[in-house]
Amino acid sequence: MLKLSLAKLDDLFAAISADRALYLPVDDASGQAKYQKWTEGAKLSQALNTVRSAKDFFFPQTENLVDFKVKGKEIEIIDPRTEHDDFVIFGVRACDARSFSILDKVFLADPVDTYYQSRREHGIVVSMACTRPEETCFCTSFGIDPTRPEGDVSCWMDEENLYLSVLTEKGQQFVDLAAGLLEEGGDEAVASQQEATSALMKKLPLASFSTQSYGGDVLLKVFDSPKWAELSESCLGCGTCTFVCPTCQCYDIRDFNTGNGITRFRCWDSCMYSDFTKMAHGNPRLTQLERFRQRFMHKLVYFPANNDGEYGCVGCGRCLAKCPISMNIVKVAKTLEGDTK
Ligand code: SF4
Ligand code: SF4
Repeated sequence: MLKLSLAKLDDLFAAISADRALYLPVDDASGQAKYQKWTEGAKLSQALNTVRSAKDFFFPQTENLVDFKVKGKEIEIIDPRTEHDDFVIFGVRACDARSFSILDKVFLADPVDTYYQSRREHGIVVSMACTRPEETCFCTSFGIDPTRPEGDVSCWMDEENLYLSVLTEKGQQFVDLAAGLLEEGGDEAVASQQEATSALMKKLPLASFSTQSYGGDVLLKVFDSPKWAELSESCLGCGTCTFVCPTCQCYDIRDFNTGNGITRFRCWDSCMYSDFTKMAHGNPRLTQLERFRQRFMHKLVYFPANNDGEYGCVGCGRCLAKCPISMNIVKVAKTLEGDTK
């Protein structure tokens, strides 16, 4: 275990920033935390989590894939990619840190998404243990320990120090950049913080929430449940739940006419949108019930069935906090629970 006095936190950020871009949660003018590139004077947010997850770093909301330049009857195909620069994401919470392994299962499976892969290779994830979980948190339901977050380096912070534990080679690169600032120590302080946070986690309203009944052969029982009608009735199809979700990974690919060529780009899409599955022959999901059902079936049933039981949710609580009609994955899972038996 390594430690750094909080009085030297800005020195750490400056040392890392001198070598590569460093992103960390910073409060915006309205007091909401969002990732921002560190520059002198930027203060690490004290908020539990960012409004948008950290998935943007590896799977950005919009991204150009290829350009086509038209010259007479010739079409030139231009790959706009350049080698990504190394970067660090600091302060990633345990839920978002786990979301990367879920996204990896999608984007790094054959055929590998090389756009995503390049960013993953160049990004160092420095995670931060939670100490003040909110009532919407339920990461422990998915086996995530918020007192021991994954990543390349795990960090803990108390009133006096930042503590760091290196987990990977990339993590070692991170601490090497700040070697002169760090000293050994902190095991006892971290252990006592972990104990206190674990006790707090057990008192949260969703502490006993479980999705275990969605494993196995429940697909048709849940799919045909009449409860979907009631659950989806008020859904506005706004897509907020998918856009704030760290594990939602659906995207659309479109062509934009630049006047003398075409730029093909991809952008996040949402299975909650009415044209998400629109194809030349028509749309196989014509109702909001079908679209709503798809989102939750994907996270609770299809994804674990195809990924060794791993659910497509990390219990970050963003959809619980942000849905304008207060619908969310916990309500859905609890309502359908009886139909899984
Ligand atoms: S569940 Fe809520 S956030 Fe998601 S699309 Fe429906 S209304 Fe919007
Ligand atoms: S479904 Fe909701 S709680 Fe689960 S990871 Fe997505 S936003 Fe977070």
